[in-house]
Amino acid sequence: MERQKKEVVIIGGGLAGLVASFLLVKSGHQVILIEKKVYPFHRVCGEYISNEVRHFLKRNGLFPDFIDMPQITKFEFSDTQGKSVRLPLDLGGFGISRFVLDEWLYHLAINEGVEFRTGIQVTGLEFDRKSDLFHLTLSDSSEVLAPFVFGAFGKRSKLDKSLNRRFFFQRSPYIGVKYHVKTDFLRDTVALHNFHGGYCGINAIEEGKFNLCYLGSREQLRHYGTIAEMEQQVLWKNPLLERIFKESEFLFDKPEVINEINFEPKLPVENHVLMLGDSAGLITPLCGNGMAMAIHSAKIAVEALNEGKSREHVERMYAQNWNEEFRRRLAVGRTVQKLFGSGRGSVIARNLIEHVPFAANLIMRNTHGQPF
Ligand SMILES: Cc1cc2nc3c(=O)[nH]c(=O)nc-3n(C[C@H](O)[C@H](O)[C@H](O)COP(=O)(O)OP(=O)(O)OC[C@H]3O[C@@H](n4cnc5c(N)ncnc54)[C@H](O)[C@@H]3O)c2cc1C
Repeated sequence: MERQKKEVVIIGGGLAGLVASFLLVKSGHQVILIEKKVYPFHRVCGEYISNEVRHFLKRNGLFPDFIDMPQITKFEFSDTQGKSVRLPLDLGGFGISRFVLDEWLYHLAINEGVEFRTGIQVTGLEFDRKSDLFHLTLSDSSEVLAPFVFGAFGKRSKLDKSLNRRFFFQRSPYIGVKYHVKTDFLRDTVALHNFHGGYCGINAIEEGKFNLCYLGSREQLRHYGTIAEMEQQVLWKNPLLERIFKESEFLFDKPEVINEINFEPKLPVENHVLMLGDSAGLITPLCGNGMAMAIHSAKIAVEALNEGKSREHVERMYAQNWNEEFRRRLAVGRTVQKLFGSGRGSVIARNLIEHVPFAANLIMRNTHGQPF
């Protein structure tokens, strides 16, 4: 396998795909990124980014300091009754909307030489052993052949079905809902407010706006029929959430909503595709670490491609580094989430944070990585 220039197709242009495309072109590879949507667009995401990526982004000219971003240094947690506790965050983070961040990275990547095909979906993906090439089918009926493919297509895609990935066939009880609001809340704080069946985050982003995003229950939405009714009947039982919903100015015509949010373990390499970001594993949102993981996974995938001496070596190196870096925090996130979304669990969690801050800090450390 030649060590210099490789052609890489990246499927999906979220943070993982965009950062990987930029780093690959910088390392001298030819890159095509295929994204099914057209930038800029909103995504369901809490838009709090852990500081562990700050140095990496700055080092690579990817830190969006052209915009005034709130620095978030404190954490507030309330149980389903609205009893709350605050503590400082260990690493902290910053807030910026994906609408702004992803579009900015998209333009940086174009300027660096990444070829984009947007508004086009990858509908089929096969690896041919004989030719040692991937064969991709696109929604515009075109086809692409490539020696390397990075899968950065997020938490769930039709491609997962065609790759026969196990998690795809398990139904998930969760939905995700996001708004941007103007409200009277602290700009240095990220809050997680529990309600029966889920939890809702709020934190500042750019231009004086706030992100209000929650993980809720598919069953409750079915039961109450509409998002608005479910919010009033379920979320508003937490008085802190009732106040936020009643007193905020909502900036979207309607919420961004997704379903089938699955936290089951996945594999970082499947069918010779290096899986990045959520395609390799979705961490529970309460950790506020999914975007940092997407960025970090892009870095280690590009390093594996640059340093690997054969396809097998690239895959082995990536899988090993991915497992070392992320497997544990994904598992801790799944465990901690069990304390959220129920009356009793959320009271236990609040008491833990209030009376054993050491334990709360330990959990935070175990759901985050170190700056890299
Ligand atoms: C409710 C909720 C709140 C969250 N809050 C936070 C938070 O506050 N902080 C944090 O760090 N993380 C948070 N996360 C997690 C975070 O949003 C993700 O981890 C992060 O977006 C992953 O980035 P990604 O690049 O892997 O995937 P994505 O950003 O989802 O990008 C995947 C891209 O692939 C495209 N795509 C999919 N299929 C195809 C295809 N077949 N062909 C072409 N394109 C395709 C999609 O259109 C999409 O643009 C939250 C998640 C949820 C569900």
